[in-house]
Amino acid sequence: MTKPRFRGSFTQQEPICEAGIAAALAVMRSGRLHRYNTAADETAEAALLERDFAAWQGARFCLAVTSGGQAMQIAMRAAGVAPGDTVLTNAFTLAPVPGAIAAIGARTALVEITPDLVLDLEDFDAKARATGARWLLLSHMRGHLCDMDRLTEIAAARGVTVIEDCAHTMGAAWAGRRSGGFGLAGCFSTQTYKHMNSGEGGLLTSDDEGFMARATILSGSYMLHDRHGAGPQAEAFADARLDMPNLSARMDNLRAALLRPQIARLDANLDRWNALHDRLAHRLRDHPALRLPARPPEERYVGSSIQVTIPGIGAEAAAAFVNRAAADGVELKWFGAPAPAGFTSSHRNWRYVPAQTLPRTDAILSGLFDMRLPLTFGPADCDAIAEVIRDTADATGRARSA
Ligand SMILES: *Cc1c(COP(=O)(O)O)cnc(C)c1O
Repeated sequence: MTKPRFRGSFTQQEPICEAGIAAALAVMRSGRLHRYNTAADETAEAALLERDFAAWQGARFCLAVTSGGQAMQIAMRAAGVAPGDTVLTNAFTLAPVPGAIAAIGARTALVEITPDLVLDLEDFDAKARATGARWLLLSHMRGHLCDMDRLTEIAAARGVTVIEDCAHTMGAAWAGRRSGGFGLAGCFSTQTYKHMNSGEGGLLTSDDEGFMARATILSGSYMLHDRHGAGPQAEAFADARLDMPNLSARMDNLRAALLRPQIARLDANLDRWNALHDRLAHRLRDHPALRLPARPPEERYVGSSIQVTIPGIGAEAAAAFVNRAAADGVELKWFGAPAPAGFTSSHRNWRYVPAQTLPRTDAILSGLFDMRLPLTFGPADCDAIAEVIRDTADATGRARSA
């Protein structure tokens, strides 16, 4: 029997669609790349993107910014988070999340996760009570949604305002409502590895006028806030225009031009991701050593990545698992690694966050492996990846029992 081997690239995205390329060329030919640099009767691509994304997301307002991280910083400031305030967030997330909290001078309080990789709602309730925190930056990390109905109840009971980090859930929903539509605001990223690709970029959505007026001024709109595609009426800016500092985090027309045609393809792409994800999940699920997070029936997920855990695997065996899979062409991210690597790090590596004891999260992360599923993969790639992972899990099992 030959050893399985995979030859695809986990970081190769699809090209920008021709419509996006044509629109970007038109912006470059015009020379008007800045979102407020418009000819008479022209609406900027950035404003059109805001209008189109708000309509797709089902949000009243949308603001286009430079990154998902900036969307989160602006959202927290516009929601009233001040330096020194405590913001709760998931203990399992990526560095831009605690980074955004640190950037605004706030204090991160980490909440445990469950074995299904979502926020532990008991711990959220307990920590909201213990810290008195009035904000939760809820990270739908790797596309897993917690029980959003229960979360909303707890947040309301504790007086906690929720801001959603939807970097991995653009298009996902809980009980028919889009992620990003539960809290005060939704923060999206259009960085290359997310669900739309403009290299870098962010989108902030909300139904709250006052919040969106403050966010728009914070983004660096100067007094040109009437040139937005899905922004509040002029009256909403009465105080915000004088109270809010300019953080210069505007989206430019070039990126907006790349993104706008991608909105029309999102729904079809979500189905393509799920076809890859579900095929792979189906082939891994029955392996006795591997555990896949449960997906409740209320959750409509977007399978742009997949996670497996090997509960109880030790650090040495986990490192061997990753190395063996890598030798066979499958790049797994291990969230239990002692040192940060690539895009992956754990809360123990964030020295800008006060050290916190999170035994349940640590136990889960020690055996958690993660993989992206770019749309350049097809069904045969999923089958080859599944074979490598199963073969690696078998070898790890033999080594552990030897
Ligand atoms: C990518 C990402 C972000 C931030 O996005 P950027 O656009 O890179 O700033 C936020 N949260 C999570 C979980 C992410 O993966």
